[in-house]
Amino acid sequence: MARRIALAGIGKIARDQHIPSIAASDDWELAATVSRSGGIEGVETHATMEALLSARPDIEVVSLTMPPASRYGYARAALEAGRHVMLEKPPGATLAEVQNLAAIAEERGLTLFASWHSREAAMARTARDWLEGRDILSVEIEWLEDVRRWHPGQDWVWEPGGLGVFDPGINALSLLTKVLPRPMHLTAATLTYPENRQTPIAADLKFVGPGAATTRARFDWRHDGDQTWAIRIATDAGEAVLSDGGASLAVDGAPVAAGADALSGEYPRLYGHLATLIDTSRSDVDLGPMIHVADAFALGRRETAAPFHF
Ligand code: NAP
Repeated sequence: MARRIALAGIGKIARDQHIPSIAASDDWELAATVSRSGGIEGVETHATMEALLSARPDIEVVSLTMPPASRYGYARAALEAGRHVMLEKPPGATLAEVQNLAAIAEERGLTLFASWHSREAAMARTARDWLEGRDILSVEIEWLEDVRRWHPGQDWVWEPGGLGVFDPGINALSLLTKVLPRPMHLTAATLTYPENRQTPIAADLKFVGPGAATTRARFDWRHDGDQTWAIRIATDAGEAVLSDGGASLAVDGAPVAAGADALSGEYPRLYGHLATLIDTSRSDVDLGPMIHVADAFALGRRETAAPFHF
């Protein structure tokens, strides 16, 4: 039987991915929303999480799709009311608040799923299998996009907790930390802030690892034209390039065949994983990608760029 789920925060990602993925799955029934702006036509809506939790004790799971800085209060209220919780990426504004949510979920025997959609990219598993047993020599990430196209009018990305260019950049880090057989750690960063904004518009990161390799990441929101979401991994036995956010893989220049669902399959796979986690009474909370971002803010040198206006 389908589990009843509520979605909270009905914006771009809820409409683009969560609602269609829930609708297409036999595991789930979208039973209600929490929305300050009216929710979804034809679906019961509550203005606050507290109102939802008291009106609908039959809803077992709440999926939170609002920006990260406001997510903690919603997640905590849902867990304390005995509901399983799924968090969009990044799972919160700080590492400690997510650890706190994980502890509450564990105490209460509930599932907390800190989702990383890029880890469900079509070629992530194939890339990880290909890297097994190879020595990695270097890794280069290029995550370049036009912020006006991908975050039109979203002021929250420029506010503390909004992460700026790390909002997409953390997708690259989540994908890379899934496919690498060994860890890496950040050693230097340069963060470029528009002079009128609180978060960076570009970042250049250097890591030691995996193993004896070095990793370099370049995130930039000032990119015209089509986005580049690519990771190039040089090894002692060939080179792998993950592109299109992990939907495509080439080895030594030759494309590796992808499944038909490619990028569009990320969210159905996330919701499939959520169902399995609940069925098996487990949580999935990996803060690795967020630790690299926190390290970049801790070590990063600051540069100032021209003001940014939408
Ligand atoms: P968004 O459209 O700007 O906002 C999502 C919704 O959250 C809003 O429509 C609003 O819904 C609610 N909300 C906004 N501010 C809030 C606040 N202060 N308190 C409570 N609720 C608030 O953002 P988005 O692009 O969907 O991104 C949301 C999250 O998804 C982010 O963590 C982002 O990294 C992640 N994500 C986004 C994309 C993408 O392509 N945009 C892709 C993958 C992941 P109501 O009016 O219904 O309350």
